[in-house]
Amino acid sequence: MALSEFDLIDRYFRSSGAARADVRLGVGDDAALLECPAGMTLVAAVDTLVDGVHFPHGCRPESVGHRALAVNLSDLAAMGARPAWALLALTLPSAEVPWLEGFSAAFSALALRHGVALVGGDTTQGPLAVSVTLLGWLPAGGALRRSGAAPGDALFVSGTPGDAAAGLALEQGRLAAEAAREFLRERFLFPEPRVALGERLRGYASACIDVSDGLLADALKLARASGCGVELEAARLPLSAPLRALGAARARDFALTGGDDYELCFTVPVERLAQLQAELPSELWGYTRIGTVCVETGAHVRDERGVKTVAAPGYDHFTAP
Ligand code: ADP
Ligand code: MG
Repeated sequence: MALSEFDLIDRYFRSSGAARADVRLGVGDDAALLECPAGMTLVAAVDTLVDGVHFPHGCRPESVGHRALAVNLSDLAAMGARPAWALLALTLPSAEVPWLEGFSAAFSALALRHGVALVGGDTTQGPLAVSVTLLGWLPAGGALRRSGAAPGDALFVSGTPGDAAAGLALEQGRLAAEAAREFLRERFLFPEPRVALGERLRGYASACIDVSDGLLADALKLARASGCGVELEAARLPLSAPLRALGAARARDFALTGGDDYELCFTVPVERLAQLQAELPSELWGYTRIGTVCVETGAHVRDERGVKTVAAPGYDHFTAP
């Protein structure tokens, strides 16, 4: 059944996500009208997912809808911000009802869970690509930046990095592992952005970044922005049981260099550690100390054989083969 652009927007995107009182005008006019609370700084992020680049061609629409919003929620989490409003620029080869139903249901479900209202967007025809702009806020001066880490600060990561990259490898048939299959694939298809943790880290973390390109690459970005280095202890890496089932060396490799985790990597000054643990118990909030910020630039990984230094950045869309 052919859907007009108007019908498509009306049916799938007119009332998506949370209903919010601060949306004076949402989908339907030329632009949305939004009220930001007094004293708050507006936080804005945009991320695009391109078919065949950021997700495998033929990927389930539910996963595309979920991930398009999740990657932006993760960016706001890394700033310590609370998400509020989203705009969705959707480029579709054709208006396929089952695809749109899966996509919009997953997008809306994740938006609803985080109190986000879809307030506008754009719909065009072309090769499949999804771009989401997410807006939120935080108290003026309260943002978590990449640049605040100092030598001596403790280095943490949330969740179990590496799962998503292993899941993608399984999804693409580059890796075979029956036992771990479903858990790891779900971790790629439906990442859970650490929005509540990011907000609660304001006042504790000296620097924060979300892990999208790989733990090592993103920790290195944080270190560079802060003008120092990071030392990671391989033995401290929090590896999920399904990832460990792939073998110790492979699991460690995925955890250090795999992307798409959407976990938070953050640093905390040592004098704040006791209070952090008291207020946000690590067992409850699911984060792990993996190392320390150091003076010597680069990312240094210590394992049983010694220390390896990585100075190269992660995946680059323009230099990747
Ligand atoms: P205009 O041509 O004035 O930009 P559009 O026809 O593109 O208007 O959009 C009409 C309304 O629908 C606008 O409010 C726009 O923000 C919204 N909209 C369009 N596409 C989407 C989408 N994919 N998701 C959410 N809102 C959308
Ligand atoms: Mg438009």
